[in-house]
Amino acid sequence: MSWRKRSLSHGRQNTETLKRLSELFNVSINTLLGSPQKLICQCCGMPLEDEIIGRNQDGTLNENYCKWCYADGTYTYSDMDELIDVCVKHMVSDQFTGESLTVEQARAYMKQKLPQLDYWKRYEELSDDGQFEAFKQQLIDEINALHVEGMPELKTLNALVGSFVNLEYRLPSGQKVKFLDDGTTYLGNQLECEFGGDRCFGVLANMDFILVCTYEAEGANPELVLYKKR
Ligand SMILES: [Zn+2]
Repeated sequence: MSWRKRSLSHGRQNTETLKRLSELFNVSINTLLGSPQKLICQCCGMPLEDEIIGRNQDGTLNENYCKWCYADGTYTYSDMDELIDVCVKHMVSDQFTGESLTVEQARAYMKQKLPQLDYWKRYEELSDDGQFEAFKQQLIDEINALHVEGMPELKTLNALVGSFVNLEYRLPSGQKVKFLDDGTTYLGNQLECEFGGDRCFGVLANMDFILVCTYEAEGANPELVLYKKR
């Protein structure tokens, strides 16, 4: 074996070892290597910390994406304008950055930034021919067909991570329960009640179930309206 070949196979072993360590300790390869790269999501442009990195279907981390854009092996956005709408809302209301952006500034920034990211450059190759969009539309139709009293028509579903929407509901017995898995990405949205008031509707769904609840600002005092297996 030549020196060159040996060094190549050595490199491959290192990669395999890093992959195994990443799985074992549930941290990204970038972190194992001492964070040489500043990772950003190649779909939405968000800086990536290990806690928000997306996962492949086998549970391993995919360091190219955040878990809102790539969940369990599925790309959740196929429409750049829809993603921009979601991001702009967060950017304008983001208290963490301390910067206040106007909606127009945030939108202009994203319109210029997103086309430079790998996912949108390779969209034709990576997209699933609209299968995920079709699944979302089917869920939207099923949810609207439930005709929940006071809830307006649902138009879009966004990817939401369990830990952000895993509300604790009080049962008639007084016991408090959570229904979701903190680490899983769900599809959902928030809707204003047609009758006004300070409660709004929360909708969450995935392959297995549809959940509708109401709550006050910041998810306070949640009440379950409906939980249906699909
Ligand atoms: Zn992302």
